[in-house]
Amino acid sequence: MLNTDVLVIGSGPAGASAALFLATYGVDHIVITKYRWTANTPRAHITNQRTVEILRDMGIEDDIRAQGTPSALMGDTVFCTSLVGDEIGRVRTWGTHPARRADYTLSSPSDNCDLPQTLLEPILIGHAAERGSRIRFDTEYLSLEQDDDGVTVLVRDRLSGHTYPIRAKYVIGADGGRSQVAKDVDLPFEGQMDVAGSMNIVFHADLTRFVEHRPSVLYWVLQPGSNIGGIGMGLVRMVRPWDEWLIVWGYDIAQAPPEIDDAMATKIVHDLVGDDTVPVTIRSTSLWGNNKMYATRYRAGRVFCSGDAVHRHPPSNGLGSNTSIQDSYNLAWKLAAVLSGQAGEELLDSYDAERAPVGKQIVLRANKSIEEFGPIFEALGFTDSDDPAAQLASMRARAEDTPEAAAQRIALREALELKDYEFNAHGVELGQRYRSGAVVGDDTPEPEYDRDPELYYHPTTWPGARLPHCWLGHDGHKVSTHDITGKGRFTVLTGISGQAWAEAAAGAARALGIEVETHVIGPGREYTDVYDDWARLREVGESGAVLVRPDAHVGWRAHELLADPEKELTEALAQLLSRS
Ligand SMILES: Cc1cc2nc3c(=O)[nH]c(=O)nc-3n(C[C@H](O)[C@H](O)[C@H](O)COP(=O)(O)OP(=O)(O)OC[C@H]3O[C@@H](n4cnc5c(N)ncnc54)[C@H](O)[C@@H]3O)c2cc1C
Repeated sequence: MLNTDVLVIGSGPAGASAALFLATYGVDHIVITKYRWTANTPRAHITNQRTVEILRDMGIEDDIRAQGTPSALMGDTVFCTSLVGDEIGRVRTWGTHPARRADYTLSSPSDNCDLPQTLLEPILIGHAAERGSRIRFDTEYLSLEQDDDGVTVLVRDRLSGHTYPIRAKYVIGADGGRSQVAKDVDLPFEGQMDVAGSMNIVFHADLTRFVEHRPSVLYWVLQPGSNIGGIGMGLVRMVRPWDEWLIVWGYDIAQAPPEIDDAMATKIVHDLVGDDTVPVTIRSTSLWGNNKMYATRYRAGRVFCSGDAVHRHPPSNGLGSNTSIQDSYNLAWKLAAVLSGQAGEELLDSYDAERAPVGKQIVLRANKSIEEFGPIFEALGFTDSDDPAAQLASMRARAEDTPEAAAQRIALREALELKDYEFNAHGVELGQRYRSGAVVGDDTPEPEYDRDPELYYHPTTWPGARLPHCWLGHDGHKVSTHDITGKGRFTVLTGISGQAWAEAAAGAARALGIEVETHVIGPGREYTDVYDDWARLREVGESGAVLVRPDAHVGWRAHELLADPEKELTEALAQLLSRS
């Protein structure tokens, strides 16, 4: 029988990234995936800073940058009646507003970008394979049985029809929104599937002349019918600038699903573009349901689920693939630590505890973002009538010189501002603070938010939070706090008066048989606090210590040098790693 430490089921963002992380950490694993290759439609695209910095930790940020559309071309997001029609307004999105740009630049060494899933997955899978993943395409998960020592998974080779078992110590079910694995291990879910109907139309058309003066990845189109189903409005989405596109259009899920042939798809494209002379080649069409469902537990014994398998939601906020990759990043180092004997099995319980609240948050956020299109329709008088002519007339009325139209203009401005919660939700993207057995608190209260926690990221070294980024000096060059941490190991960051932590960390590492790096940051040291930003961000004294986990979240901290730093650090690490 085939034997492995970890069997990954699925090669979407969750599975492909799990493979990359496990391969990078040297964990023996096999990936099985149902189809002959990776994603065949460009679904996910917004790749947020947290994801890019994780892929930077994996050493593949350059590949992401090389293929992604840069941030500068992502954000002049348009609301219009068609690409050639009336422009209702614009929202600067994905941190491109000059007043928001600083928040994004200050928070991460990495910029966000637009990278379609069709391009992202091969990068992840390619590097994973290069680093040791064994990947079996055309291989379908059928069933599993677990016992005290492992899991026996039955799979089918879809080319030969041959069915065979694979034995693994742990399984990651990354098999997407209709996850059979989650069903088979009976994960508990809350919410509802298929709350609204959407269709994707992927097409080729050169739309440069309609968009080059307002480059964006999203063009929202308000036309009669665009408030039925779908993801808030009709959407013309850039896949590759500016000739590969994807339209998302809604349909009434209570009715029979529409049959979309090329003629119907072309008509929808022409309607949303507003010009039926534009040559269009339809690449593919598909129907899908908007979901509002999340698992409240991600683990069942030796089986873990990640990605859409445990959080199912519409693409609003662009969080699906990002969160899927971040789930796997959270799980991979823990599996590596347990499999190598560096951590106790209970460490794996922290995966649930840390990621399930994130899953719930993003499912609710994405669904709320759809509801938040409602005020735009209301401001334009779209909801007052079902008659398309009346809808268009009330929309045009906003240009009149009347008190009603002036009120309409104010309402529209406020409605568009509300969309910041979908398109500039930096706090949702970066602000995760974990609470679990893999975080050792320091008895300080959680820091308060002085700005909206969904819109703004609040850097803190409060145990459980993501390590704040700042630039440090190194041989005259700039490196991020995220560049000197991660890499699959623990790191202690301290200042010159805390250099005794280095010896303490070496002692703790010896005692526990793990790797703990220490960096003393200060003048004349390997890393200098060039802008004094670290001193402003670290929230501990210069002699204190910030213990950073392999996934760049703070695991523990000491505000100053302690009487017996080695004992304190060893105890914190032992607790964090569930070492009895
Ligand atoms: C129009 C659209 C736009 C989107 N935009 C964004 C965005 O901008 N940003 C973002 O982050 N997210 C976005 N998303 C969401 C994103 O696509 C998903 O969240 C993401 O693909 C989930 O990744 P996953 O790996 O969990 O699942 P999937 O990508 O669904 O992958 C599941 C994998 O499991 C395999 N599989 C399934 N069943 C079996 C089986 N029985 N045996 C073996 N293998 C199996 C499949 O072949 C596949 O490889 C968008 C989605 C849509 C529809």
